[in-house]
Amino acid sequence: MYGLKTDWEEVTPASCSFTLSDYEGGVARWCPGCGDHAVLTAIQKLCRDEQLPPEKTVVVAGIGCSSRFPHYMKTYGFHGLHGRALPVAEGVRSRRPDLHMFVVTGDGDCCSIGAGHWIHGIRYNMKMTVMLFDNNVYGLTKNQTSPTSSQGQQTNTHPRGAWLPPLDPIQATLGFTNVSFVAQTIDWNPAHLSATLKAAHHHEGLSFVRILQRCPHYTEDVFELGRKDPNRVLMMEHEDGISLPDGLLKMFPNRIAHDPANMTEARDLAGTTDAYPVGLFYRNRNAVRYDHFTVEGMATPRSEKIAALRRALDRHRV
Ligand code: SF4
Repeated sequence: MYGLKTDWEEVTPASCSFTLSDYEGGVARWCPGCGDHAVLTAIQKLCRDEQLPPEKTVVVAGIGCSSRFPHYMKTYGFHGLHGRALPVAEGVRSRRPDLHMFVVTGDGDCCSIGAGHWIHGIRYNMKMTVMLFDNNVYGLTKNQTSPTSSQGQQTNTHPRGAWLPPLDPIQATLGFTNVSFVAQTIDWNPAHLSATLKAAHHHEGLSFVRILQRCPHYTEDVFELGRKDPNRVLMMEHEDGISLPDGLLKMFPNRIAHDPANMTEARDLAGTTDAYPVGLFYRNRNAVRYDHFTVEGMATPRSEKIAALRRALDRHRV
C-alpha cells in the first residue's frame, strides 16, 4: 500500500478462508429489535464477503448504545471516549495504512460532543468507513434529547417536547470542506444496508454513512412510517451510485435519478422532508487524503529518523 515497505507481520496464511464466525465476538446486549443488530450482521457479512483478515481489521467507536459495536466483533477494536472516535481512528490510520477501518458513532456522539472532530474528520478524508447510527435520541443515558431529535419529541430532558428543530447530519456533512462520500441507508432493509456499506468500504477516502436506526425502546415511532410504507423511502438511483441487488428497486416505487457527482442536487435531495432519501448523495474520488501525507517517511529506517531528530535538536543547543 502506498508503495511502502512495511515490516508488519502477516498472520493469515494465504490459503485461509474466513467464515462469519471469524468475525463474531461477544453476544450483543442491545435491546431486542434494536437496529444496531442489523448493522452488526451487515458488517460481519461484509468482512466475510471481502475476506478481510480479522487481524487486519479494526473497529473504533465512541460512547453510546451503538458504540458497544467493537465488543461484538472478533477483530481489533477500540471503545473510546465520548465523541472521540474519529481522532482515535485518525491516529490509527496515520500509522497503520494496512488496516481495514470501521468507525461507529451515534447522533449524540458525532453531532454534539464530537461535532468538531466530525467536521475535521470529513476534511481530513482519511480512508475509513464512518457509520453514524442515528436513532434521534441518547439511548444509553435513557432517553435524552439529541441533536437530531425532532422538534416536539418528548424525552426525559424535554418532557414537554424538544424546543429546537433537528440538525440534519447529511446536509451538514455535505457542507464540510473536502467531503468525498456521503450516503444514507436504513437498518430495516438489509440488502440496501449491505450494498451501501460495501460501496462505502470500497471508497478510497472517508465514507460517511448515516444509518437511520430504530430504537424500539425510546423512539419506536420515529421510523415506523418509513418502515411500514415503502413510499416513504425515496430511493436514489444512478449507474455511479450504490450498486443494488436485482429486485430491490421493485420494492421501492418512489425513486429518483441522482448523479452523485452533482453537489447542488445532493443538497436539494438532503432537504427532502416527505420521505427518507436513501442512496449515495455525493462522491468525489479526487478529494485530497490526509493519510497520504501522514504515511510519508514511514519506510525510512529508524536509525535515520533518530539521526534527523538529533540534528534538529542540536540546532537549538546553547
Ligand atoms: Fe438500541 Fe435503543 Fe435499546 Fe439503545 S436503548 S440498545 S438504541 S433499542
